[in-house]
Amino acid sequence: MLRNGLRPWLLLCCLLLLMPGLACALTVEVRPGFAYEALGSGVEYLEDSDGSQTWETVQQRAGWQPFRGQELNFGFSSSAYWVRFHIVNTARVEQRLILQQRFPLIDSMDFYITRQGNLVAHRTAGDAQPAANRDLLQSSFLVPLVLPPADSATVLIKVKSGSGLQIPLILWDQAAYVENNHAWSLVYGVFYGLLLAMALYHLLIFYSVRELSFFYYALFNLSLLATYLCLHGVISAYVWPDFSYVSNRFINIAITSSVLFANLFLAEVLQVPQARPKLAAVLRLLAYVTVALMIASLALPYVAVVKGVLGLSGVAMLVLFSALLLRFIDGYGPAKIAFLSGSCASLGFAVSMLGNVGVIPVTPLTEVAGYVGIVVMSMVNAFALAYRMNMDREARQDAQAQLIENQRETNESLDRLVRERTDELENANALLHEISRTDALTQLSNRRHFDESLEIEFKRAFREKLPLSVLLMDIDNFKMINDRYGHPFGDLCLVKAADFIRASIRRPPDLAARYGGEEFIVLLPNTDVSGALNIATRILEKFNASVVEDEGVEACITVSIGVAALTPGAAESAASLLKKADTLLYQAKANGRNRIETGFDAEGEVVTGSGIGV
Ligand code: GH3
Ligand code: MG
Ligand code: MG
Repeated sequence: MLRNGLRPWLLLCCLLLLMPGLACALTVEVRPGFAYEALGSGVEYLEDSDGSQTWETVQQRAGWQPFRGQELNFGFSSSAYWVRFHIVNTARVEQRLILQQRFPLIDSMDFYITRQGNLVAHRTAGDAQPAANRDLLQSSFLVPLVLPPADSATVLIKVKSGSGLQIPLILWDQAAYVENNHAWSLVYGVFYGLLLAMALYHLLIFYSVRELSFFYYALFNLSLLATYLCLHGVISAYVWPDFSYVSNRFINIAITSSVLFANLFLAEVLQVPQARPKLAAVLRLLAYVTVALMIASLALPYVAVVKGVLGLSGVAMLVLFSALLLRFIDGYGPAKIAFLSGSCASLGFAVSMLGNVGVIPVTPLTEVAGYVGIVVMSMVNAFALAYRMNMDREARQDAQAQLIENQRETNESLDRLVRERTDELENANALLHEISRTDALTQLSNRRHFDESLEIEFKRAFREKLPLSVLLMDIDNFKMINDRYGHPFGDLCLVKAADFIRASIRRPPDLAARYGGEEFIVLLPNTDVSGALNIATRILEKFNASVVEDEGVEACITVSIGVAALTPGAAESAASLLKKADTLLYQAKANGRNRIETGFDAEGEVVTGSGIGV
């Protein structure tokens, strides 16, 4: 056991002694059971500012130095960079290895593999090369290596790129790579699938409800998906394998779209314009800058725009997170949920980062935490959106209920108004009707009303075989009163005469009317001649008992009355009844005035010239 354990170390020492001058460079030892090693710290590098060095000349150059960080990264530079390290196979079997460079946006890379100073393989990679040139078509760059037992090789890599010179290198045992790659393919597949599902789902909802926030959210998810597909090298390997020009621009467009749609989505879902106009102005400005950068990404070279895009992403994250926080402080419900979603994503990234920099142990969970964070963010945000829509729906329902209530109130007041107007109109009509049948001076019924009533009562009396009487009256010597005291006094006498008559009739169907100038008439339904005579006597006495007085002027007025009565038969008419009354009135005048003529004597016999006088 001990011998077996010591043997690889002894072999390594021998091999290192055989490689003069290289002992200080990083040496990766491939032992039995080797799975992988991340290459960063200790890898030697050299800047080749004009890119003129070859694999042979560069090795003679002074200035090689060991890299001090965790993962190879030379920032943005127009220089080419060379890195080198050694691989020693201390196992007793041939080792099949894969060298993986995981940053797919590097423009061009040259891998030189030398053994004992001789070049044994030269491979090129990078997204400026057609994907077909790669040894293994994968989203990251892969270089296969075969190392015989107890052998060693030196790997020299020349890197040049317009994007950041990040070179995360991992040396894999082939089988370990296949296993690991399979696991990550599953993780990425689920991640891409969920983002795509969220995007399509919200696009469909947008299609059916036409609410812009669903559209923005769908596009945000799509942009995020596109960004990750670029970062993972899927676009340059599979979508546009021959057009690095497009791939390079695409990532800037994907990032700026993510920023733009996150901005539009949050502004909409948090109701920023309505609640915080100043914040809305800041978000609008951010959106304009984003769109400008997006257009610049299409027109300008990738290198010219990428720093702006990265800077914008940082600023946008700060601004959007502040917007979330402010709306959270406002107590706006959806903001709380969106804030939770942003916190999920941040937590995921923090866990991944802490694992990467070695603060917490790397486990499968820390490795996928960033992706889990994004997926949770995407789902929780969808919930914020649903919450917001629910609030809108409730507000709409409230508004509708209010509208219905207002409408009901308006209808009610309209009804009330119509009822009032109708009542007024009916009253006015009734008044008009009353006026149309009333004599203006005496307020008794007028001739027209009398005629109508006579017609009706005459027919009723005929039908029911009941007696009907009329008293036709004419004020005596009225011309003289007018002449002596003037017309106004005459009018007053007429008003008083009407009062006397009105006061003398009692039954509801009895009707007193002004028949002509100073002529009055009383209709007495269901009244025979003796009843009529009673009333006529009452009237006559009333006249005789009263004095009309006005401003010191006094006058007595008298009246002559013709009383006609009959129980209508087929031969009689209303006109004949009137005619009879008129004749009797004339008789009363002729017989000395201030008297009643009935046409009957005290025994009820018909006579002419009989009457009751005062
Ligand atoms: P008698 O009937 O007793 O025979 O005499 P008389 O003076 O009343 O006769 P006559 O019918 O000739 O006169 C009626 C007068 O009544 C004529 C007119 O001046 C007057 N008269 C009619 N209508 C009105 C009215 O509305 N107001 C006034 N002040 N006078 C009226
Ligand atoms: Mg007259
Ligand atoms: Mg008269």
